[in-house]
Amino acid sequence: MRIDIMTLFPEMCESVLSSSIVGRARENGFVEINCHNIRDYTLDKHNRVDDSPYGGGMGMIMQTQPIYDCFNHICEETGDRPYLIYMSPQGNVLTQDKVRELSQMKNITLLCGHYEGVDERIIEEIVDEEISIGDYVLTGGELPALVLADSVARMIPGVLSDNECFEDESHYSGLLEYPQYTRPFEWHGKQVPDVLLSGHHANIEKWRHEQSLERTLKKRPDMIEKADLSDKDKKYIEKLKKENE
Ligand code: SAM
Repeated sequence: MRIDIMTLFPEMCESVLSSSIVGRARENGFVEINCHNIRDYTLDKHNRVDDSPYGGGMGMIMQTQPIYDCFNHICEETGDRPYLIYMSPQGNVLTQDKVRELSQMKNITLLCGHYEGVDERIIEEIVDEEISIGDYVLTGGELPALVLADSVARMIPGVLSDNECFEDESHYSGLLEYPQYTRPFEWHGKQVPDVLLSGHHANIEKWRHEQSLERTLKKRPDMIEKADLSDKDKKYIEKLKKENE
């Protein structure tokens, strides 16, 4: 999979994307991520990429031309027209389902706004989807693009090593993950639950699944309402609800 990021601050994105699991995945060729400086595409002789808003008001608006030419360059490079996402507080809020959907695409491009955002006509003309990382406003789209790129990259086969797995993790199956423990066995008087030392895989799996149900009910009751639960799970949830009445 190839991810392109259009930004005015490519070095900010590069530094994060060169580290840790994503950095290793890029080096090993599991995912290609390229950061493009929108300013490199401006035709303005003073290298400007923004201007004041028509109608007056505060701040600056990113102009259409450099963004449009930058995207055309990416289209030429990929020999394709990547799915173009504008990172925007006005977009649909990112979910694990959306991450999974995007991770199955061949090419996606992320457009990072800055200042007061981008000229509306660029959204109308080339953007396929607007995605937000939450109902708050940041200074730029770089952190949201990094959040999206990281969450998508880790779902690509080969990016996580064999002992790292996303399938049990929070949100993947609509539930939160069960509690995890490591050495030492006892810390501040608190011991690891006995079942985890039993070596009995079926019991461990049952305990973990019940813990997932229990903590999702407790921490995110909205998720339990939407989860695809078996009859056995539903009975377990009812039992927990009665116990807490
Ligand atoms: N004037 C815009 C508005 O009210 O909708 C906000 C512009 S914001 C200060 C600058 C840029 O940061 C946006 O163009 C967008 O790319 C990015 N941004 C800010 N908050 C975001 C969020 N919650 N999710 C995704 N992108 C965000």
